[in-house]
Amino acid sequence: MAWLPIISAFIIGSIVGSFLNVLIYRLPREESIWSPRSHCPHCKKMIPWYQNIPLVSFFIQNGKCAMCNATISWQYPIVEAITGCVWGFSFFIFNPMHATMNAVFSSILIALAWIDLKTMMIPLSLIISGVIMIGLNIFTGILEWKLVLWGALAGMAIPLLMMGLTFLMTRRQGMGWGDIQLGLILGAWLGPLEMILTLFFAALLGIIAWLAISLKKGFDRNRPLPFAPYLVMSAVMILFLESYVGIWFDKLLFL
Ligand SMILES: [Zn+2]
Repeated sequence: MAWLPIISAFIIGSIVGSFLNVLIYRLPREESIWSPRSHCPHCKKMIPWYQNIPLVSFFIQNGKCAMCNATISWQYPIVEAITGCVWGFSFFIFNPMHATMNAVFSSILIALAWIDLKTMMIPLSLIISGVIMIGLNIFTGILEWKLVLWGALAGMAIPLLMMGLTFLMTRRQGMGWGDIQLGLILGAWLGPLEMILTLFFAALLGIIAWLAISLKKGFDRNRPLPFAPYLVMSAVMILFLESYVGIWFDKLLFL
């Protein structure tokens, strides 16, 4: 196993993660993502490139802005590290072409999940970016359009059904339309069987998180729970274990 490509992928991923932090900050504020260049949200001064090195700068500067000493959120190194790991893993598992596609798609999902976690909103621009990636993958023959259609259907129909049932039982809208759109692109990317498994794990993670938060802060029926982070966590996990999951599913269905 050659480690150089995987380490390179990790470094590229952490740079991508640095850009995702810009998206996470600017998309909900409807600011341009291209200009102005990165600046400190506190003192508004532009950050020179040597103070903007993913992961490294945060630790050298002890988590503080080098100009005004304001504390920088842990979100920055965490998103950079997660994205770096996702890129590294992707190139460890898939061939370069397939790895790039999966890494880019996963990066879109990381920004989307983080924005949902912070704002309870899913920006449509990220959903559209996902759709473009799906189109690209059908065009290059990585994804088969029949599986894309069945996957998209499963990813939309099951959450819609869950949303309907939740509403009938509690008179509350459990999930948002953003979750349905996310289900659509995840299903299209993963295929129908993997999507069902993704929804199952996401629901499980969501329930565990809800219980953990409730135990800590007290039970509150009205506490909103963003669902996208759990959907994305499950989807990326299943995407990377897809070949193993596929074998497991075949055994389950045909034995
Ligand atoms: Zn500053």
